[in-house]
Amino acid sequence: MVAETAVWRDRLTAQERAQLGRGPGVIEEQNPDVLVVGGGIAGVATAAACHAAGLGSVLLIEAGRLGSGATGGAAGLLTPEIHEWSDPEPFVELARTSLELWSELEQSWPDGVGLIELDWIGLAPDPDGFAPHQRPAVEWLDHDQVAELVPGLARPMAGALIRRQARVNPLRSLARLAAVLPAVATGTAATSVEVKSGRVVRVATTAGDIYPGAVVFATGMPPVLDGLPLDLPASRVKGHLLVTEPSPVRLPGTVAPVATQLDDGRLLVGGTFDTGDETPTVRQDVIDSILEALYATLPAVRGLQADYQWCCFRPRHPDGRPVIDRVPGLENAWLTSGHFRTGILMAPVTAHTITRWIAAGEPPAEAAAWSSVRFAERRHIRH
Ligand SMILES: Cc1cc2nc3c(=O)[nH]c(=O)nc-3n(C[C@H](O)[C@H](O)[C@H](O)COP(=O)(O)OP(=O)(O)OC[C@H]3O[C@@H](n4cnc5c(N)ncnc54)[C@H](O)[C@@H]3O)c2cc1C
Repeated sequence: MVAETAVWRDRLTAQERAQLGRGPGVIEEQNPDVLVVGGGIAGVATAAACHAAGLGSVLLIEAGRLGSGATGGAAGLLTPEIHEWSDPEPFVELARTSLELWSELEQSWPDGVGLIELDWIGLAPDPDGFAPHQRPAVEWLDHDQVAELVPGLARPMAGALIRRQARVNPLRSLARLAAVLPAVATGTAATSVEVKSGRVVRVATTAGDIYPGAVVFATGMPPVLDGLPLDLPASRVKGHLLVTEPSPVRLPGTVAPVATQLDDGRLLVGGTFDTGDETPTVRQDVIDSILEALYATLPAVRGLQADYQWCCFRPRHPDGRPVIDRVPGLENAWLTSGHFRTGILMAPVTAHTITRWIAAGEPPAEAAAWSSVRFAERRHIRH
């Protein structure tokens, strides 16, 4: 029987699972110094960072359960270096810093955050498949070296090796980060805000009103709330993932685009970009095509079936990069949205940036690149 849910929840301890449904519909703190709206990885990491930085009382509210958005369905790979091939330098720098912050959290957080170090191996579809400009972090592998690391490939392939990347069970990290928070209300959605003299003075929720000192919206997609003067372009990109039954074949770390091996030998496969598919359910044809591609590359695992299969939606701004910003025109409201395919990776640096901004009243230098103003400017040019 295939489970039509992400694999992550089943792998949590009872204590970790309990974190995800904390304080259902109960607001313990009506006047928090910091209110965080949204209990995905960005919101939980930000609430935890504000709490750890001593910014006063912190309340986190989440419409569903913690991790019920994109976070609970992500693959959980933390691989900044591969973005050298697809993204501009400031993005790669942000991603690198964030992986360093993940490592610091792993060291400093009570019981760690569940960080698992791994090597990333990318297979080139043909010998010239990778760009020739060699990055310091990349070791190029010839056919023989790849064959030694990944036995059983259908045909010889060259590849690239990047060491010391990482992955997490996103729900475990979320639960560990949330565990330090004194006030969490799940099943509590923000519905509107009241703004006076350039400040959010009241946030109405399904469990009553909150009067925060500062508020951070970390709602995945940009927040759309009555009274909030914000209109950012964004869309959602559906993706499918599956986890197979335990595989006898051993893979080193994560082998792109083949699979990532979990601790018990299961293979985590997929991460499709099903642009334009807004249906909320798993499509068997997509699952079948993920399995076929796996069997075609690695015939040794032919016949291995999916034990878990699921889909979720990546929140995306038009340029595919996140917004980390103060809400334009408001003194005490921040937002982060559109983390698309790297929101798990980017959570600690996002949290760190917003926390320092709230504490200092001034934006940290790295924030400029992630301002929401870039979309206002585009709209202006178009009209
Ligand atoms: C198939 C797939 C694979 C992925 N793989 C990776 C990966 O390997 N590595 C990586 O880094 N990223 C990956 N991602 C991307 C990652 O999942 C997202 O970028 C990340 O989870 C976004 O986190 P978030 O906290 O911003 O949003 P979300 O996790 O969506 O959290 C937002 C939360 O806000 C809540 N909310 C919304 N509105 C309100 C409201 N009004 N009041 C209260 N609560 C509200 C929602 O219920 C939700 O829980 C993947 C995504 C997909 C779909």
